[in-house]
Amino acid sequence: MTRVDHLDMLGSDHCPILLDTDATPVQTKRRNRPIRFEALWLRSEQCEEIVRRSWPQYDADEVLCIPLGRGDHEDTLIWHFNASCKFSVRSAHHLALDLYRRNLASSSMTKSYDDWKFLWNRRTPSKVKVFGWRLCTNALPTMQNLMKRNPGVDNVCPVCRTEDEDSKHILLQCPVVRQVWALSDLPWRVIPNWCDDAADWLRHVSSTLEANDPDRALLICWLLWQNRNQCLWGMTGSTAEDIAANSMRILWEYGEYIQSLQQANRTDSSYSFWKAPPEGVIKVNFDGATFAE
Ligand SMILES: [Zn+2]
Repeated sequence: MTRVDHLDMLGSDHCPILLDTDATPVQTKRRNRPIRFEALWLRSEQCEEIVRRSWPQYDADEVLCIPLGRGDHEDTLIWHFNASCKFSVRSAHHLALDLYRRNLASSSMTKSYDDWKFLWNRRTPSKVKVFGWRLCTNALPTMQNLMKRNPGVDNVCPVCRTEDEDSKHILLQCPVVRQVWALSDLPWRVIPNWCDDAADWLRHVSSTLEANDPDRALLICWLLWQNRNQCLWGMTGSTAEDIAANSMRILWEYGEYIQSLQQANRTDSSYSFWKAPPEGVIKVNFDGATFAE
């Protein structure tokens, strides 16, 4: 008798299947017995058709690529995680540890970017850039991310209250959000309807938009997140018109602020830049605090 067991998920969102072609029948009192896989099914001419009907194409191709033994010999279980192909607790321990580490690495940072200049070069306040960094490292406390840690969390979007909230929904797809993008005067191609991920979208518009449009796109994302937080804490959300107008105002004010700083640095002759000390002199920089008494 052949038996199929669904193993627990470990390191992936797929349940591994254990196919035991030499299983002894298990006496069970349950009325609804699980499906039993019959090796004979593989010899049926309809096997390929059924596999293709039951799985997505890429999965079906993988399944059908698995070579099947042609001989008449008995099937045996092979543990391919050590050289002897025999199961050992030691090799299972190493496998579990390896999968656990890989899972940790993939969940702590879903995307890794080699070059963060697209973010740190923006002419926006630092808090806006930090927000962009949190978005790109999937560190925003969206309802979807909170639900991963606490399954009891209601993951509905706090703004529209109709759809599940992840970063793509709250920054690109929520109805109010779409209005903001439409009112933003950014080029038509900024309106996001093609991407799967808000972080990828931000990186894309940062490299394709011109002048200060990438700054405005990042700033609008930040304002949308602020608006979402207002709604989450029971305050009245801003209108799409207000958010679009605020993005223009903040960008203009920040530009003025940076210009005034540069002007002050040019006119202030007492402003000194750091210089290396002369040879033979050691320069020590330190910081301290004093109490009034
Ligand atoms: Zn929504």
